[in-house]
Amino acid sequence: MNDLPAFFISHGAPTLIITPGAARDFLGGLGRTLARPAAILAVSAHWETPAPAVTGAAQPEMIYDFNGFPREMYEIRYPAPGSAWLAEHTGELLSAAGFEPSTDPARGLDHGAWVPLKLMYPGADIPVVQLSLQTRPGPQHHFRLGAALRPLRSEGVLLLASGGTSHNLRELQFDAGSGAPPPWVSEFREWLAQRTEAGDVDELLDYRNRAPHAARNHPTEEHFLPFFVALGSRSASAKRIHSSTTFGALAMDAYQFE
Ligand code: ZN
Repeated sequence: MNDLPAFFISHGAPTLIITPGAARDFLGGLGRTLARPAAILAVSAHWETPAPAVTGAAQPEMIYDFNGFPREMYEIRYPAPGSAWLAEHTGELLSAAGFEPSTDPARGLDHGAWVPLKLMYPGADIPVVQLSLQTRPGPQHHFRLGAALRPLRSEGVLLLASGGTSHNLRELQFDAGSGAPPPWVSEFREWLAQRTEAGDVDELLDYRNRAPHAARNHPTEEHFLPFFVALGSRSASAKRIHSSTTFGALAMDAYQFE
């Protein structure tokens, strides 16, 4: 079996799932470009724990971790099963790499996971396990997590890292649509694309100091940390496979890691 790629995708606002647009179309077509995974390991910006944790539920529940959205958003279901095998195997790989992982039997899927998954695999028939982020240790820690998980990709597991290429909610303009973003977003996004495609890992890990407008694009890091998990799992090239903007300043770019 060929290795599956890993992805970093930008999930945008939860309403991505009901709002026509370029990023939604892109995610809707992405699953069809791939061999069918045996299971999916999702890493979302919306689950942070002190040490790595995986979901252990046989049937993960829906987490509607947003407020004030239309009622239809709270009626969406994504009834994919969990995977005891993947939860356990992920734990083993992380333990072998020196982490102290745990399993959370009650945790469900948050919108950072189910929004893109429902677009990619609407049948909800591929088992899904979620892995949590740790906020404090930053990019290097998440890169090491990804490196520890690399073997999964030759075992039919799709690694889906879900966050945002830019994520400054204070600077969004909800009536701005999908036109060109302001320079502080474009410069950051192009820096990221260039360094990623060049395989310049050291620069990427130090993005906070080296990328233009890093802190303005990511006032907090949680939406960017999933990028480093996907980056760490790569064994060859990486490329940007989607670029669009919503709400004036929310870059919806996506990356594929071979
Ligand atoms: Zn989010």
